[in-house]
Amino acid sequence: MSIEKRYISVKSRINNNAVKLLAVSKKQPISKIRQLYQLGHCTFGESYVQEAIEKIELLSDLAIQWHFIGPIQSNKTKYLAKYFDWVQSVSSLKILSRLNRQRDPSRGKLNVLLQLKVGNEESKKGFDTNELLAICQKQEDFENIRIRGLMSIPKPSDDYNVQLEQFSHCKDVFEQMKAYVAVDTLSIGMSSDLEAAIESGSTMVRVGTDIFGERE
Ligand SMILES: *Cc1c(COP(=O)(O)O)cnc(C)c1O
Repeated sequence: MSIEKRYISVKSRINNNAVKLLAVSKKQPISKIRQLYQLGHCTFGESYVQEAIEKIELLSDLAIQWHFIGPIQSNKTKYLAKYFDWVQSVSSLKILSRLNRQRDPSRGKLNVLLQLKVGNEESKKGFDTNELLAICQKQEDFENIRIRGLMSIPKPSDDYNVQLEQFSHCKDVFEQMKAYVAVDTLSIGMSSDLEAAIESGSTMVRVGTDIFGERE
C-alpha cells in the first residue's frame, strides 16, 4: 500500500479534529518523510538521537516540527535541547533540569511532556503520579521549558478493556496536572491502540508502522 493510502486510512481511524497525529519516523528513510511532508504533514517523532540529528539536518529545507519520543541518556540532552521542538519522554528531574539549562532561550521554550509510568514494572521508564505532580508544582524553576502535558506508553495489550483502563488512568493524571500547569497535550495511543486512546481523551496519537509500513 502507498504511504498516501496508509496515511488517509490512519486519519480516518482518528476521525476527530481535536486529536493531533504525530508521524513516528524512527528507522524510516528520509524519502518517506519527504513523501509524507508533501502530503501536507509536518510533525514527526524520532527515538534515537544520532539518527534524528542526521535526519533533521538533511531535512532542514522543510518546516518540520520535531518531537523526541525515545529513551534519554543524560549525555544526550544537549542535542535534544538544540535540535528538537518537543521532548515527550522526560522521565526524571535530572533530565528536565539539564534540558532547561541547555536550551538556548533564543530558540524559544522547549515543549516538554512528562512521561507517566503505567503499571508497576520496576524497569519501566516514567514518573509515578506523585512525582509527576510535584514537578508541575515547581514549573517556575524551569524558565526555558514549557510543560505541555503527559506522555505514556502503557504495556501493550490486545484486550480493548485493558487498553481503556490504562489510558483512563493517564487521562486522570492529565486532569490533575491542570491544577498547576496550563497543559493541553495528552500523548497516548500508537498504531495498535489508538482507538482506545482516543476514547479515553487522547489529544495526540503517535503512529509509525501504520503510516510508513514496517521499520527497516
Ligand atoms: C515507535 C514508537 C511509536 C510508534 O509505534 P508504532 O507501533 O509503529 O505506531 C509511538 N510511540 C513511541 C514512544 C515509540 O517509540
